[in-house]
Amino acid sequence: VAGAGKVQAPKGTFDVLPPDAERRRALADSAAGLLGRAGYGEFETPVFEHTEVFSRGVGAATDIVQKEMFTFEDQGGRSLTLRPEGTAPICRAYAEHGMHKLPQPVRLWYLGPFFRHEAPQAGRFRQFTQIGAEALGSEDPSIDAELILLLADLFEAVGVGPVRLRLSSLANADTRRAYAEELREYLRQHEDQLSEEVRARLDLNPLRAFDSDHPGTREAVAGAPRLIDRLEPDDAEHFQRVRELLDEAGLEYELDGTLVRGLDYYTRTVFEFESERLGAQNALGGGGRYDGLVEQLGGPPTPGVGWAAGVERILMAAGEPERPAESRTVFISYASPAHQRRAFALLRALRAEGLAAEMEQAGRSLKGQFKHADRLGARAVVIVGDDVEVKDMKTGEQAPAADPVARVMELLR
Ligand code: AMP
Repeated sequence: VAGAGKVQAPKGTFDVLPPDAERRRALADSAAGLLGRAGYGEFETPVFEHTEVFSRGVGAATDIVQKEMFTFEDQGGRSLTLRPEGTAPICRAYAEHGMHKLPQPVRLWYLGPFFRHEAPQAGRFRQFTQIGAEALGSEDPSIDAELILLLADLFEAVGVGPVRLRLSSLANADTRRAYAEELREYLRQHEDQLSEEVRARLDLNPLRAFDSDHPGTREAVAGAPRLIDRLEPDDAEHFQRVRELLDEAGLEYELDGTLVRGLDYYTRTVFEFESERLGAQNALGGGGRYDGLVEQLGGPPTPGVGWAAGVERILMAAGEPERPAESRTVFISYASPAHQRRAFALLRALRAEGLAAEMEQAGRSLKGQFKHADRLGARAVVIVGDDVEVKDMKTGEQAPAADPVARVMELLR
């Protein structure tokens, strides 16, 4: 067909090119090391789930379930959804595999793609990557504190720069229900000040008013009662213990009674880290406790706590990495096609020694091959002709080598 247009990646998605892929790998390695040493095991769940995992788990009244899910029917007419978040699937898996029979808490971490149908902007995508960690089966406040500190450690290890930690408690489901009623009443009295959207969702989810940046809503909300002032004694005590442990660890945070987070399953501790280096989408990661979620997905009553952090935003905040240490690449050039077999054998031999070796594979002239070796930043070039020579790219010295592999190894030592 004449004039077939260029096909592009779907809106809100992106390709990861090799230099970025390397940075993502390094971040994943940092997370794996940090979380592994803390006793968290790597866990994978499917990229899609039965839709009810999210409608029941995340909550039917949330933005995610109401308007952001990629939901489709499979050929058997079952409703499936590309996962918008990782906690509900892990709770589904915990119940499905009877993991309550394991020693508690069960500590897990994951990394993978997530999907939300949001309006794309800087730092907000429709497919993005999260690193997450969850601990199920214990309500000990030291686990809340441990998880918050691990996320702070991860940010520190990968160099995201200054962060702001907001912390609050969302009480238990009963307290929150009673509070939502109180807040709804209060907001009704200020209805004329509220944004269209907040007013439309007053019945469904009044707490979302705290997330609005509409000036009138903000003004109304400033004087609203706070859930943090309605905690029952055991929830208040739990929160107090989390705070003591964070204080003892020397981690700074802001108590913020307006922090509600966008998911229904949270109870007690909630927190969010923001970066000072990012724009409007400045949330690096956040999470909290979800003591009713496993049960809601058909499992036994099980407390849980966890977080998720956005890989793309972490890398944006971390900025460009320092230049890598001295190159360890070797380039193999050859004079004529007759020498390709020898060059290829040397390529294999060098790679077998664990070196980063490349050879000419695009038909360049010998001069072009040297230019290419320069571009690669090669530390050494092996030149295959009737004899084999090795050039030290640092000193410019070039000499015949009876054992080119040994000579290269010597240069790279
Ligand atoms: P949430 O559980 O919604 O707070 O998400 C946890 C983290 O994932 C956020 O703090 C962001 O860093 C990241 N994140 C969430 N949604 C997106 C998105 N649409 N695009 C990129 N990153 C996201």
